[in-house]
Amino acid sequence: MIRKTALIFLSLVLMTLSFAPVQVQSKSDKAVNFNDSVTASFPGSITFNLDIEAEYQIKDIRLKYFIERKSFSNVIQEIIVENPASSDSDISVSWKWDMRTTGSLPSGTVIKYWWTVVDINDDVYLTDIKSVSFDDDGYIWNSLTQNNINLFWYYGDDDFAADLMQTCQDTLVRLGEDTGAYLVSPVRIYIYSSSYALREAIVFAKEWTGGVAYPGYGVIAIGITRSNIEWGRRALSHEIAHLVTHQMTANPYNSIPVWLNEGISMYAEGELEQDYENYLKAAVISDSLISAQSLCSPFSAYSDKSYLSYAESYSIVAFLIEKYGKQKIHQLLTVFKTGSTYDNALLEVYGFDLAGLNKQWQDYITGIYIS
Ligand SMILES: [Zn+2]
Repeated sequence: MIRKTALIFLSLVLMTLSFAPVQVQSKSDKAVNFNDSVTASFPGSITFNLDIEAEYQIKDIRLKYFIERKSFSNVIQEIIVENPASSDSDISVSWKWDMRTTGSLPSGTVIKYWWTVVDINDDVYLTDIKSVSFDDDGYIWNSLTQNNINLFWYYGDDDFAADLMQTCQDTLVRLGEDTGAYLVSPVRIYIYSSSYALREAIVFAKEWTGGVAYPGYGVIAIGITRSNIEWGRRALSHEIAHLVTHQMTANPYNSIPVWLNEGISMYAEGELEQDYENYLKAAVISDSLISAQSLCSPFSAYSDKSYLSYAESYSIVAFLIEKYGKQKIHQLLTVFKTGSTYDNALLEVYGFDLAGLNKQWQDYITGIYIS
């Protein structure tokens, strides 16, 4: 089903949060009036405000919040906002969450928060738990929903969005058919009109950032227009695959090898691009392949080595799929979900460890380019 809606309502959510008076009873039945509000300024900050009318002097005010997302522990942050020991009982406080100190949150992130206030009698007052949705409201977003993909865009016509949605669906089909991996829960994709517009939506964006995935949040943000749509389709497939892989394997104990994570994303893009293939072939011929063991760690920042690392990762995943089939790689992801070590996961599923994989794959790739 394809659905299109404007998302103006998101800013309404924020408005309804503002200034709803709340009366909280303490253990000694003393009433305190609260007015609380939130001002969100995407992507830079969220300011939480609290006005208090209390019968007695207030000595301690704390804001507590947590980010709503699929994780293994919802960490509650506690901010001691002020100790107004010398102030009177009617006070206004605010606390600004500066994203430069914590890193970017993706658009649509929901934060739950509440306040605790203690007066000089040690009576404790709590506000209700409320939500704020941290949305990029610099644009009027259209949306398109199909299966587990929610696509948001503001620039370009319906056909443009349908094209990108088709790319996402094709990617899910390819991953499902060849690896058995699938999206467990819905994801959101924000299409910006350019890399520049995307970088405006990120705190501390690198100047070459064209797309970014937030696997823990199930979100992708990417700059695509008609003029770069070929690149955009590949980049979108790559990032969607990262979300799928994350959902299939995330656990509190261990990450997966980088070659598997990047290899599945490269595989999801389709055939390996010629530039990458050239690096792979040259490394085979000059006997300078990077080992599968080395590719378990983050890739080199040097572009030649980086290209080769991505190309090899594609090749290792393609080799595993071609030689051992879909069931095995699906099983591998399932074993990794339990937090298995790299060697143990491979041994359990394929009967060889990383060194064994490296040997088999190097023999295979050498056979292709040197015969
Ligand atoms: Zn990647």
